[in-house]
Amino acid sequence: MDPSYDADAEAYRDKVQAFLAEKLPPDWAGIGALPRDAADEFVGWWRGVLHEAGYLAPGWPVEYGGGGLSPVEQVIIAEEFTRAGVPTGGPNDTFGIQMLGNTLLLMGTDEQKAHYLARILSGEDTWCQGYSEPNAGSDLGSLGLRAQLDGDQWVLNGQKIWTSAGHLADHIFTLARTDPDAPKHKGISFLLVDMRQPGIEVRPIRMISGESEFNEVFYTDALCASDDVIGGVNNGWAVAMTLLGFERGEAAATMPIRFRGELDRLVALARERGVADDPVIRQRLAWCHAKVEVMRYSGLRTLTRFLQGHHPGPDGAISKLYWSEYHRIVTELAVDILGAEALVPSGRGPASAFQTDAAGAPNSSASWTGTFLNARAGTIYAGSSQIQRNIIGEMVLGLPKEPRPQ
Ligand SMILES: Cc1cc2nc3c(=O)[nH]c(=O)nc-3n(C[C@H](O)[C@H](O)[C@H](O)COP(=O)(O)OP(=O)(O)OC[C@H]3O[C@@H](n4cnc5c(N)ncnc54)[C@H](O)[C@@H]3O)c2cc1C
Repeated sequence: MDPSYDADAEAYRDKVQAFLAEKLPPDWAGIGALPRDAADEFVGWWRGVLHEAGYLAPGWPVEYGGGGLSPVEQVIIAEEFTRAGVPTGGPNDTFGIQMLGNTLLLMGTDEQKAHYLARILSGEDTWCQGYSEPNAGSDLGSLGLRAQLDGDQWVLNGQKIWTSAGHLADHIFTLARTDPDAPKHKGISFLLVDMRQPGIEVRPIRMISGESEFNEVFYTDALCASDDVIGGVNNGWAVAMTLLGFERGEAAATMPIRFRGELDRLVALARERGVADDPVIRQRLAWCHAKVEVMRYSGLRTLTRFLQGHHPGPDGAISKLYWSEYHRIVTELAVDILGAEALVPSGRGPASAFQTDAAGAPNSSASWTGTFLNARAGTIYAGSSQIQRNIIGEMVLGLPKEPRPQ
C-alpha cells in the first residue's frame, strides 16, 4: 500500500477545495444539516453545478461529457466531497453513472455510448437496477423474467423486486432470460428498458423504517428495442458481473471518512447522555475505533490498486463485508446508549436509507434508530454477507468452490 500523494495530487486537492469553497454557501455544515425539502432542492441544483464543472462523472472521457480526470484526481474529488458532506450526484446517479455508465464505457457499442451517456449526465434519463427477483437474489442466475424477440423488439414478461429508487427512475437496466433452453447463466441478456410504457408497473415496498426506498417492478408485454442489449444476446451474465464490480468496489476511499464521521457523532452522543465514562461503553467505542482504523488501512490498500490501474474486482467483497457487518454493531451500540429513548425516537430521521446518516445530521434518537434499522439491510443488498464470504473464499483466497446444488 502507498497512502502518499505526490505534489501534483496535492495541488489538485487545493483546486477541489477552492471549488467547494466557492460554490457552497458560507455556513455549509453538510447535506444532513438541511431539512428534507431544502436538501432535495440543494441536490437538484448541485447536480447541475457538478455537471457544468465536469465533476459529475470525473473519470469518463471528455467526449462523453465526463471530466477526463486521472484515477488519483477522481479519488481526491471523492475524498474532498465526502469530507465536505456534499453529494457526488443525485439519488439515481449511482445506478446511471457509476454502474450503467461505467459498464457502457467498457462494453457498449459506439451507438449506445453516443445515445445514452449524454442523457445520463444531463439527467434526461434516470436509471434503476433490475436484477433481483422473488426467486432469484443470491442465486441471480436463476432469474425468470422472460424476453422474447418479436420483430425488432423484445417483449418482456415477469417481475423484479427490491428495485431501489425505481419510483424515481424512468429507465431500468434489466437482466432477462432470452434463451430458456441454455444452461442458466448462458441464456441471459442485459437489456435497457424505458419504464414510461403501459407494460411496466412500479409498486413501492414499505420498509421497517416506514420509508419506501425500493419497489416491485412488473413487466406485462413490456417492450424494448432489439438493439438495446449490452454485450450481445445471451451474454448478459458477463455484463452483470462487470457492473457488480463497479457497485461493490468504488467506495473504498470514501467509506472510512463516512464511518469516522459517524463514530465521532456517536462519541458525542455518549458524552451528551452521560455514559462516556461507563467502562463497558468505552470499551465498545474503542472497539469501533479500531474497526474504523482497519477500514481506513484496508481502503488505502484497495485505493493503491485502483491508482495502479486495476478495476475494482472481487476484493471489493472484503470492503463490503467489513463495513456492513461493522455497521450493524456500531448502530446497536447507539441504540444501547439511547436506552429506552430508542423505543420512542424523536427528532429528524436519517437522510439516507443506505449506510451512515448524512454528514452534518442532527444527533437525534430518530437518526440513530433509523440508521440502526437501515444497517440491517446493509448485510443483504449488493450481495449478502454469506455471498461475500463465498466470493472472498473462492475468488480472492482461491479456496475450493462451494458444492453447487445442480
Ligand atoms: C435495501 C435493499 C436495496 C436493494 N436494491 C436492489 C436494487 O436496486 N436492485 C436489485 O436488483 N436488487 C436490489 N436488492 C436485492 C438484493 O440484491 C438481494 O436482496 C440480495 O441479493 C439477496 O437476495 P434475496 O433477498 O433473494 O435473499 P436469498 O438469496 O434468498 O438469501 C436468503 C439467505 O440465504 C443466504 N444464502 C443464499 N445463498 C447462499 C449460499 N450460496 N451460501 C450461503 N448462504 C446463502 C443469504 O446470505 C441470506 O442470508 C436490494 C436489497 C435491499 C435489502
